[in-house]
Amino acid sequence: MTPLSAAAPADLPARGPASPPPAAAGPGFALRIAALPAAALVGGAQLRATLTPVGLDAVALRVGELAEQRGDGVFESISVVDGHAQELRAHLERLAFSARRCELPAPHLAQWEEAVAVALAHLPAQGEFGLRLVLERDPGRPAWLVATRAADSSAVRARGVRAVTLDRGFDSAAAGRAPWLLIGAKTLSYAVNMAALREARRRGADEAIFVTSDGLVLEGATSSLIVRIGGEHVTPAPTAGVLQGTTQQSLFGHLERTGRRTATRGIRVASLARADAAWLVSSIRGVVPLTAIDGRELEIDVALTSELHAYLRSPRD
Ligand code: PLP
Repeated sequence: MTPLSAAAPADLPARGPASPPPAAAGPGFALRIAALPAAALVGGAQLRATLTPVGLDAVALRVGELAEQRGDGVFESISVVDGHAQELRAHLERLAFSARRCELPAPHLAQWEEAVAVALAHLPAQGEFGLRLVLERDPGRPAWLVATRAADSSAVRARGVRAVTLDRGFDSAAAGRAPWLLIGAKTLSYAVNMAALREARRRGADEAIFVTSDGLVLEGATSSLIVRIGGEHVTPAPTAGVLQGTTQQSLFGHLERTGRRTATRGIRVASLARADAAWLVSSIRGVVPLTAIDGRELEIDVALTSELHAYLRSPRD
């Protein structure tokens, strides 16, 4: 297996108009993908021929690229642990869902599966990596898979984070009333999410938990929220206006299989005061315990947090 530090998959034949891939400048590589229409009957070698490996330092975007300049596209971040792409099917389904919600051309799922397989074949067998899949509006422009080493989250997973609740600026009926807000789609526009993190830091916390203007809890700026209230593990209902998290759903499967109670429903901000444990969960960073919400301290359930972390590291389909 090629180590990631030398990871431009240079042993793949260069395809299409692209010249052979340059050696990767940093720890990672990308695949430029000539996105196929979802209904295209293409397999095997033909599918592979739509994938062109490039180094991360490749000059790849045109002036005026709308995906970058407007954020008009969708993406997925998939965790790779010891050579396995976690919850690949759920991520591809959400990519298709986000594309539908944004009225983008539907992704060709077999093409993305092939791209992920090619990427996995060129990542080291051990360690944590991230695959970012990016799909933009113009079918004439390439889609991308970007593979990089995951940031080391071990300290934050052990130490936990402090969060403050922040108004997301819409009420819990907005997703139905105003579908053009694209609530629930994983779009490239994360400026609001990043601004919320900066505001959380200004308020002396590490993380933001979004809430609706009518007082329902939503999600973290880049993660889903799970709170334990009265022995039940609860996450906000997607209808309130959250991105449906693959990690949260996978963790709920584990909690249910091991005899714990779970629920997906509306959570009022006031009921956070009754939580005895809480976590922010997401694909790459994994499960991170909350040590305070709006200044109210929370104990870390060390045993359950380590169990959930071990579960997230096991191969999951
Ligand atoms: N909610 C938001 C806003 C996110 O950005 C993310 C992850 O990036 C999540 C939830 C968690 O999703 P997942 O577990 O699929 O990574």
